[in-house]
Amino acid sequence: MIETPIGLKEHDESRQGEAVMLKGNQEEQHNRKLYIESYGCQMNFADSEIVASILLDKGFTTTADYKEADVVFINTCSIRENAEQRVRNRLKEFEAAKNKKPGMIVGVLGCMAERLKSKFLEEEKLVDVVVGPDAYRDLPNLIEKVDDGTRAVNVLLSREETYADISPVRLNTNGITAFISIMRGCDNMCSFCVVPFTRGRERSRDPHSIVREAQELFAAGYREVTLLGQNVDSYKWTPQATEGTADQKPVNFAQLLVKVAQVSPLLRVRFSTSHPKDITDEVLYSMAKYDNICNYIHLPVQSGNSRILELMNRTYDRSWYIDRIQAIRTIIPDCGISTDVITGFCSETEEEHQDTLSIMDYVQYDYAYMFAYSERPGTLAAKRYADDIPEDIKKRRLTEVVNKQREHSLKRLQEQVGKVHNVLIEGFSKRSDKDYCGRNDRNAMVVFPVNTKYKIGDYVQVLGESCTSATLIGKIID
Ligand code: SAM
Ligand code: SF4
Repeated sequence: MIETPIGLKEHDESRQGEAVMLKGNQEEQHNRKLYIESYGCQMNFADSEIVASILLDKGFTTTADYKEADVVFINTCSIRENAEQRVRNRLKEFEAAKNKKPGMIVGVLGCMAERLKSKFLEEEKLVDVVVGPDAYRDLPNLIEKVDDGTRAVNVLLSREETYADISPVRLNTNGITAFISIMRGCDNMCSFCVVPFTRGRERSRDPHSIVREAQELFAAGYREVTLLGQNVDSYKWTPQATEGTADQKPVNFAQLLVKVAQVSPLLRVRFSTSHPKDITDEVLYSMAKYDNICNYIHLPVQSGNSRILELMNRTYDRSWYIDRIQAIRTIIPDCGISTDVITGFCSETEEEHQDTLSIMDYVQYDYAYMFAYSERPGTLAAKRYADDIPEDIKKRRLTEVVNKQREHSLKRLQEQVGKVHNVLIEGFSKRSDKDYCGRNDRNAMVVFPVNTKYKIGDYVQVLGESCTSATLIGKIID
């Protein structure tokens, strides 16, 4: 199945399967070695940092080579069938390594573990541990069980777990940008989506622990945080009676954004994902008010047709979505907008597909993540509707959507040529260490020659001089 992200970060194709490693010296040779590889969305990558934190506390070290690991974890994604297939193929490679090193523990974590539960142990004989997203605190105990000769499963979902007290170890970090999970789970029940079943009920994390994490990151030299949740606009934290001091009031997402932005004007704040039914003008006004809250919103449309949106149970229609776009354009005139699109959802006609293309023309997104519909067992759509659009039609529609997005991405970048951008230097460009790279406020990747007056983590003013379809190219102006 084709799956084409134009523009990165949200579901970064280049990071799929990345093995996460703690940077620096890990001397203690006698310690057990952990290898952890992640797939799927940023939430999964952030979860792997929590898992590593829990196990490093128990004396583990990390390794980038699964063949030399004592414990091999794969943090999985279930969102589309091909994501699961990828994991199955990877497990075959781990099997060969385990045959050579019989004591090796292989564990499956995350959404696929939650979806398949103990069935995983039946289907994949090499797997020793199956752990769902809310059970990571139990990992040391589960590993002990395997050491004692039993295969172990914990897929209990929780209504409370937010791992608020666990400081994630930053793995594979550039030292400048980091993700902070602000909530877990999802209550939305979009009919195509497996997330509510694999990640459980929505719960918001204590804002004090979020602000503390942002402060610690800033003190450690980080200059950008992205607040993560499946639906950040429904973030809502209500103090428990036992916590009740006078200054503890309920906190919504707009208020949380402001609290994080106030950590320092030098700390950029981004967030993902916004749901069109929930994004409020209060959030937009907070973005407009604080320069360090970046002018960039990921607002998945999924389809431009109201009948399909209803079947998808997205709880907004085309005109509601357009109204939200108008609010963004009015309140934050220079805001970057990206989206997710699904082609070939159950019963989608050619005319309805044209509505998706026309809403893309209306918004002219900066980026899009585009997918052919993949039926997921257990979802509302799988139960209620026939997956009746032939694969070749889904793919042809996807190609049309991808081609349209290419035009719009290029156009949006061309509009930024000739302008001066505030860019946070994130590192050297992938192609050459003579160039720096970083993002501007609206999330466009900018590449420009190194000027030794400035170092990674500094903000610089960059004049955009030209662009490719994915990158703005420029030079620093003093
Ligand atoms: N919570 C986010 C939201 O509602 O926009 C999105 C979360 S999901 C991890 C990311 C994207 O995957 C969705 O926006 C949707 O476009 C896509 N997706 C989810 N389920 C899918 C399915 N069954 N087939 C194809 N794409 C799917
Ligand atoms: Fe899935 Fe919808 Fe929740 Fe996003 S909002 S995670 S698409 S159910």
